[in-house]
Amino acid sequence: MNWDEFAHWGKHIADWAADYHKTLSERPVRAQTSPGAIAAQLPVSPPEAAEAMETVLGDFERVVMPGMTHWQHPRFFAYFPANAAPASMLAEMLVTTIAAQCMLWQTSPAATEVEGVMIDWLRQALALPEHYTGVIQDSASSATLSAVLTMRERATGYTGNRQGLSGKGNLRIYCSDQVHSSIDRACWVAGIGQENLIKIPGTGPRHAIDAKALREAIAADRAAGYTPAGIIAITGGTGVGGSDELTQVLSIARQEDLYTHLDAAWAGAAMICPEFREEFWAGVEGYDSIVFNPHKWLGAQFDCSVQFLADPAPQLNTLKIEPEYLKTTGEAVTNYSEWTIPLGRRFRALKIWFLIRAYGLDGLRERIRNHVAWSRELCEEVRAMNGFEIVTEPILSLFSFRCPGNDDDQQRLVDAINDDGRIYLTQGAFQGRKIIRFQVGQFNTTREDVLMAAEVINDVWRKIA
Ligand SMILES: *Cc1c(COP(=O)(O)O)cnc(C)c1O
Repeated sequence: MNWDEFAHWGKHIADWAADYHKTLSERPVRAQTSPGAIAAQLPVSPPEAAEAMETVLGDFERVVMPGMTHWQHPRFFAYFPANAAPASMLAEMLVTTIAAQCMLWQTSPAATEVEGVMIDWLRQALALPEHYTGVIQDSASSATLSAVLTMRERATGYTGNRQGLSGKGNLRIYCSDQVHSSIDRACWVAGIGQENLIKIPGTGPRHAIDAKALREAIAADRAAGYTPAGIIAITGGTGVGGSDELTQVLSIARQEDLYTHLDAAWAGAAMICPEFREEFWAGVEGYDSIVFNPHKWLGAQFDCSVQFLADPAPQLNTLKIEPEYLKTTGEAVTNYSEWTIPLGRRFRALKIWFLIRAYGLDGLRERIRNHVAWSRELCEEVRAMNGFEIVTEPILSLFSFRCPGNDDDQQRLVDAINDDGRIYLTQGAFQGRKIIRFQVGQFNTTREDVLMAAEVINDVWRKIA
């Protein structure tokens, strides 16, 4: 392919992308396919001879598109969103074109410097104190693993990496039972072990960690010879939005000299709105590490996860490695690959720059405020439906409900709704019962899209009841 052909197909794809988005709401949200159906349409072996781009793109439409679930669909109410605002998509196209490896300052000075400034823009947008710095990672899972490794190294006097963990005693990490599975996996991978991740029940209207039980668990562990290493707090848990009392958890961590990580992967975006901070953000200014995903609710295309650090030193002491071939000379610079587990890094900051400039913080705030308001409106509609029950009240834009019947009936309704295709939502579990989750967060969703969900839920329920 020469560059003229590239330009031709690039324009074609840009037009295709605009058409796709303009007509997206006419498609079923969840792919209407069955396992193996897409793979069965692909040749089993690669072609020996080159094929024309027309043919490849034709097959893309014919084979691939019917097998896609449309995450940018305005009526995607499942999981959490993975938004790709148009301006951020444009930035991604540029990043893909330049395709720089941004591991060191010198391998891409602009990427490093824009990243530093974007971290600071977001720090201000989220009302974090001036001393926070940070790094952009691929996902919250990676940021949390970095924080858990830092807890491990700090608690072992930074000897774990060198000596391994044998003879280091049993480290313990604490969190509520509302945390995301990435916390469990971080503890597995870091050599802490599932049994040493102590989950304290969430209580109250926000399903916040029970502070008294947390204190008692730490004291009991110390008495039994364990070594507490850190606490992971949550703002906006994936299940039902569980959110800890950050000040309370922090004061326990300080008394116990424990490293703190806050998982605000989803809800962090909403903290650009000052009105949500009193309830969900008070106390955040003392956390050692905070993760939030601009690639969820804010609108930056996946992947883009920001980890703020009160002091980068503990994480650098944990992850920095500098073989001869990565050494740089001259003035001191930031080499972000020293802050993370992977060496290679994409230029993820550019899409934040484009996103914030194209919409302004005000434009982004307005979306989030609308989502929260519309979600509450829908919650009331569902509450009013005969025999339906709101299981967890809205936390920001997430609530959960049940239709009449047992757990199997909940799943039957979810599956039937997703087969219907007009909206997409997913199930969850809360206090041992199956629930149906509903969240609003699509970048281009409208009030009509959200309210249509009530109609669809009602329709489909009447069909299967
Ligand atoms: C989505 C989510 C994660 C995981 O995010 P990734 O970026 O996909 O790793 C972790 N915690 C919470 C609360 C989340 O909502």
